[in-house]
Amino acid sequence: KKRIGILTSGGDSSGMNAAVRSITRVALQKGCIPYAIYEGYQGLVDGGQYIKELGWEDVRGLLSVGGTSIGTARCSDFRQREGRVRGAYNLISNGIDALVVIGGDGSLTGADMLRAEWSGLVDELIATKKVTAEECEHLREDLTIVGLVGSIDNDMAMTDITIGAVTSLHRICEAVDNLTSTALSHQRAFVIEVMGRHCGWLGLMAGIAVGADWVFLPERPPPLNETKYGDDWETEMCDIVKKYRALGNRKTLVIVCEGAIDRNLKPIKSDYVQKVLTDRLHLDTRVTCLGHVQRGGTACAYDRFLATVQGVEAVEAVLRSKPGVPAPMIGNSHNKMTCTPLMEAVKLTHAVAEAIAQKDFGRAMEMRDPEFTA
Ligand code: ADP
Repeated sequence: KKRIGILTSGGDSSGMNAAVRSITRVALQKGCIPYAIYEGYQGLVDGGQYIKELGWEDVRGLLSVGGTSIGTARCSDFRQREGRVRGAYNLISNGIDALVVIGGDGSLTGADMLRAEWSGLVDELIATKKVTAEECEHLREDLTIVGLVGSIDNDMAMTDITIGAVTSLHRICEAVDNLTSTALSHQRAFVIEVMGRHCGWLGLMAGIAVGADWVFLPERPPPLNETKYGDDWETEMCDIVKKYRALGNRKTLVIVCEGAIDRNLKPIKSDYVQKVLTDRLHLDTRVTCLGHVQRGGTACAYDRFLATVQGVEAVEAVLRSKPGVPAPMIGNSHNKMTCTPLMEAVKLTHAVAEAIAQKDFGRAMEMRDPEFTA
C-alpha cells in the first residue's frame, strides 16, 4: 500500500483544491493511503499536527473552492538541508513513501532536491538514531515524487497550461470588462497592471480577450517596429492608440504585465505609461492595479477539469514509479496529458528567464512558444 503525501506550495492558484480532491479519491480507490501535508513545505518540516491521513469525506466540496484549503507557504527552512532532514524524518515516521507536490517551479525544485538527497538523508537519520533501519527499509532506496504545476502565471516550460491560470485570466477579463464601461462613457484610457511575474501569458491572453490597444510583456519588450522607432516605444504606443481613436474607439486599454521591461531591461511601470498617455495624447488616463483579485476565487470549469484529470495521472505516476527514474511532472501539450522529467521543465523555465536577462528576446519567445516567429 503506497502512502501518498500531498502538499500545495508557493503561490496559491484555483484548482489546487480540485487536484488535492482528485489525488485523494483516486489514491483511495487504488488502495493507497493519502495524507494531507498542511502549509506546504513548512508542514513537512514541522510534522506532527501538520500531517494527517485523508478520508473520502475530507475532500468533499473542494472541487470548486479557490486557493488551497490545505494551506500553502513560502518556507525558508526547506531551502536548508537541515529543514529537509526534518522533512525526511516526518515522512518516514508517518510511513509516507510518495509525495505529490502541487506548486510552481520553486516548489518542484524543492521536491527534486529532497529526492536527490534522499538516501543521504535516510542514512543520516539512521546514524543519528532518529529512525531505525527497519522503519525505513522500503524507503531506503528512493522517495517517489510527482509534480503537478499549480500557478496562475502559466510560466512553466514543457506544459501548455498550468492549474489556475485560466481562472485567473477569467478574473482579469471580468475586471477589465467592468472598467471598459466607464472608459467608454468618459472616453478614458485605462492602464491595467496584471500579475504573471516574468511571464507575459496572463497579460497577452487578457489583451486578446478584451481587445486591448497595447500589451507590455516581459518576453517581448517594445517597440515592435525597431527599424522605425529605435528605442522609442512611447511614440510607437501613442501612434497605435491615436490610430484606434481615429477609427472611432472611445476607450483605450493598455495592459502592463508586472514583469514588463524595455529593451534595456528597465521595468516599465504603469504610472509612467499613464504619464505618457496623459502628456502626449491628453487622454484622461487612470491606472488600475488588479492585485490579488486575480489569484482566482472559485475555480473555472477548465481548472476543475485540468486538476482532476492531472490528479488521476499523478496517482498513476506514483504507482508506475521506479527507483532512479527522474521524477515526472504532469502537464499537457496539444490537449494531451504529458509526463515529462520535472527537472527538465524547471531548467527550461529558468532558461527563458536567462535569455531575457541576456536581452535575447527572440530566443525567450521561441522557448515560450516553439512556433513563434518574430
Ligand atoms: P513557486 O513554487 O510558486 O515557484 P517559490 O519559488 O516561492 O514558489 O517556492 C515555494 C517553496 O519551495 C519555497 O518557499 C521553498 O520552501 C521551496 N523551494 C523553492 N526553491 C527551492 C530550492 N532551490 N531548494 C529547496 N526548496 C526550494
